Amino acid sequence: MANPVILTIDDDPAVSRAVARDMRRRYGDRYRVVRAGSGPSALETLRELKLRGEQVAVLVADYRMPEMTGIEFLEAAMDLFPAARRVLLTAYADTDAAIDAINLVDLDHYLLKPWHPPEEKLYPVVDTLLDAWTATPEAAAAELRVVGHRWSAPSFAVRDFLARNLVPYRWLLADDPEGARLLNAAGATAEDVPVVIAPDGRHLSHPTEADLATLVGLRVAPAEEFYDLVVVGGGPAGLGAAVYGASEGLRTVLVERRATGGQAGQSSRIENYLGFPEGVSGAQLTDRARRQALKFGAELLTTRDVTGLTDAGSARLLTFGDGSTIAAHAVVLATGVSYRVLDAPGLAELTGRGVFYGSTATEAPSCVDQEVYIVGGANSAGQAAVHFSRYATRVHLLIRGADLTASMSRYLIDQLDRNDRVVVHPHTVVAAGSGGEHLERLTLADGRTGETREVDASWLFIFIGAQPRTDWLDGVLVRDERGFVVTGPDLVAGGRRPPGWPLARDPYHLETSLPGVFAAGDVRAESVKRVASAVGEGAMAVSLVHRYLESQ
Ligand SMILES: Cc1cc2nc3c(=O)[nH]c(=O)nc-3n(C[C@H](O)[C@H](O)[C@H](O)COP(=O)(O)OP(=O)(O)OC[C@H]3O[C@@H](n4cnc5c(N)ncnc54)[C@H](O)[C@@H]3O)c2cc1C
Repeated sequence: MANPVILTIDDDPAVSRAVARDMRRRYGDRYRVVRAGSGPSALETLRELKLRGEQVAVLVADYRMPEMTGIEFLEAAMDLFPAARRVLLTAYADTDAAIDAINLVDLDHYLLKPWHPPEEKLYPVVDTLLDAWTATPEAAAAELRVVGHRWSAPSFAVRDFLARNLVPYRWLLADDPEGARLLNAAGATAEDVPVVIAPDGRHLSHPTEADLATLVGLRVAPAEEFYDLVVVGGGPAGLGAAVYGASEGLRTVLVERRATGGQAGQSSRIENYLGFPEGVSGAQLTDRARRQALKFGAELLTTRDVTGLTDAGSARLLTFGDGSTIAAHAVVLATGVSYRVLDAPGLAELTGRGVFYGSTATEAPSCVDQEVYIVGGANSAGQAAVHFSRYATRVHLLIRGADLTASMSRYLIDQLDRNDRVVVHPHTVVAAGSGGEHLERLTLADGRTGETREVDASWLFIFIGAQPRTDWLDGVLVRDERGFVVTGPDLVAGGRRPPGWPLARDPYHLETSLPGVFAAGDVRAESVKRVASAVGEGAMAVSLVHRYLESQ
């Protein structure tokens, strides 16, 4: 990170050089001394610094300047860097104006010209001001900032995307003073949010996920046109395949639609994954897996949706959403499953504004001292209930059945039983949601009697059954009636190989009805829906890819 800035402003070049020289001599090793020749150009510099996320510790402005007085400049500068300490440089004759400015712009000090010797007249003053500035919160590190509205679906989408991709950021409300200052510096208004500002000052308004990925340095385009192995999907199965593929010498690229980690990346605590007796968060597991895949040389692409798969002779051709293509000898499909949408009046319009699918990490801290509703009776909902109970006053878990025994692991049921803040509501479904700017009320129905009641609610998190999104494979691969991809022995019904199967051998275990294309993890028909099995299948698919390549 760049050193904090000391900005000096004087229209007289000789004075300007002298102040900057004296400042550099004493503070040059810890601060960047920047000069400006007028108030307007100094303000321009401040705007750039603000956008780049740099810090300004001290402003030293000459009082008499033609376009803008030092006092006017300091007043304007306060909007951009309120914590920066302010010094006015004055001639003896202007002492009265300087004294007036103490109140007007909350001046910290006025310094009479000439300030020599600086050891006596300049440095003691600036030393004190720097000490004061260092103690302010603004002296904290620079980072990516997101300015948005509290209850806005696009603002939520940006934060969710960054959180899922493990990109740290600072969230600022557009109507907070600091948020408004950043928008001002970016030349944006509250209409333009969400606005994302990178540490180097580049900024985006209403970014697409691909633009956002590029801004934060995630790779979005493949380096080559042809690979040994393309892995589609960046959940545990895909990351497992990428780690094993790359570590075993295959030129491997993983293509992920949104954020690596998949469903597991949304888990607040995975307690049953081998080797983590204390549990591990999905974010931690994803971070480690991603670094491991990169270390072995796999390419990881984000925000690229694969929308087509074609048999191109000995190669397999994959088409992206934008029509571009990538080819490989072999493919591992690891596209997992996505949450089903809860179909009740009012919920679609409020999604991202109080109604959320999964996505616990970003919102949990905002639920402090509030009531939270969670729909779902499986482990994912149970984990979320435990997680939210650390923040919310009460977590209401709404389940269709009479109890959780049929759908949730024993260890989670026990945790919920012991948790005073979690209330399980059996036989309860969400019949409707309503609100203005955000969710305000839910209509809950008794699944047996149909009787309804209204509750005040600002937060609804939905964790209901999942389905594979494999429509793009229609007519290309054999899928079961629910869309899961059929593999291996399940394809050989009554001793007959799948229609169009061209080889004199049966499909390998995880191989689909198109030779050289394998499926791993939740997307595979009859798979066990667990992190460990997904990772295991990703690894196993790679060993079958080797077998396939050797037989070619
Ligand atoms: C909240 C939650 C908690 C859970 N907790 C546990 C637990 O404690 N223990 C446990 O064992 N299991 C748990 N699970 C289940 C576990 O996470 C899944 O079984 C596992 O993630 C499946 O991995 P996968 O790689 O097959 O698919 P997914 O994790 O679903 O990943 C698939 C990825 O493919 C991407 N994708 C899909 N289609 C495309 C496309 N066309 N182009 C590009 N990319 C695409 C998706 O964006 C996604 O990132 C939990 C699940 C959830 C949701």
